[in-house]
Amino acid sequence: MAPIPGSGLAKGLAVTLRTMTRKSVTEQYPDTQPDLPPRTRGVIGLFEENCTVCMLCARECPDWCIYIDSHKETVPATTPGGRERSRNVLDRFAIDFSLCMYCGICIEVCPFDALFWSPEFEYAETDIRDLTHERDKLREWMWTVPAPPALDPSAEEPKEIAAARKTAEKLAAQQEAESAADTASPSTPHADEQTRAAEGPTRPAGDSPQQTDQPRQEGRE
Ligand code: SF4
Ligand code: SF4
Repeated sequence: MAPIPGSGLAKGLAVTLRTMTRKSVTEQYPDTQPDLPPRTRGVIGLFEENCTVCMLCARECPDWCIYIDSHKETVPATTPGGRERSRNVLDRFAIDFSLCMYCGICIEVCPFDALFWSPEFEYAETDIRDLTHERDKLREWMWTVPAPPALDPSAEEPKEIAAARKTAEKLAAQQEAESAADTASPSTPHADEQTRAAEGPTRPAGDSPQQTDQPRQEGRE
C-alpha cells in the first residue's frame, strides 16, 4: 500500500509536539550540581592510617597506575626480653588518574579498608602530569567520601562495634564494682572519722596540751 502523502511529516510533528510538552531532563551543569548516586566512582581517597603497605592494590591494578614506595623501620620490644619487630613505613602513595580505568579492583582487594570511592569528579587538568595524585591529595579526597549507609535494623551488629561495646560495658562494670567496694570498706576516710568519733580521743596523754600542763600546775602548788 502506498504511503499517504504527508504522513511522515505528520508523524514527525507529533513526535516534536510530544517532546515539547515533556519536562526537560537537561541539567545545567556547572550552574547546577548533579545529584549523583552514593556509589559513584569519581576519585579514589586514601585513608593512610589504615595502609600497611602490603602492596596488594598496586599488584592487582590492571593498569599499573598505583605507585608505592616504603622503607622498613625497627620497632623496639615493648616488653623486657621481647623481640624487636620491623614494620613498613609509607614513603609514597600515588595514583595516576590518566591511566586509571575506574575498575575499583584496588578498593576491593585492599584488606585494611584504606581505599575508598569518592563521588568527586571535578579534577580535570590541562597538564596530564597533574593527574597523578600523591598521598596528600589522595588523603584530602577522604573528606569527600560519603558516610556508609545505615545498617538494616535486623542486621547483625558489626564485630568491631560489638567488641568496642563489650569492652565499654566491662570497664563500666569494673568501675561500678570498685566504687561500691570503696563505699562499703571501713578504711574510707568517712568511715574512719565515724569510728574515731565513737571511740573518743585516742591521742597519747603526753600529746595533749591540757594533760601535759596539769602535772606542772600540781607541782607548783
Ligand atoms: S580503579 Fe582499577 S585501574 Fe584505577 S587504580 Fe584502582 S585498580 Fe587501578
Ligand atoms: S592494599 Fe590497602 S593496605 Fe595494601 S598497600 Fe594498598 S592501600 Fe595499603
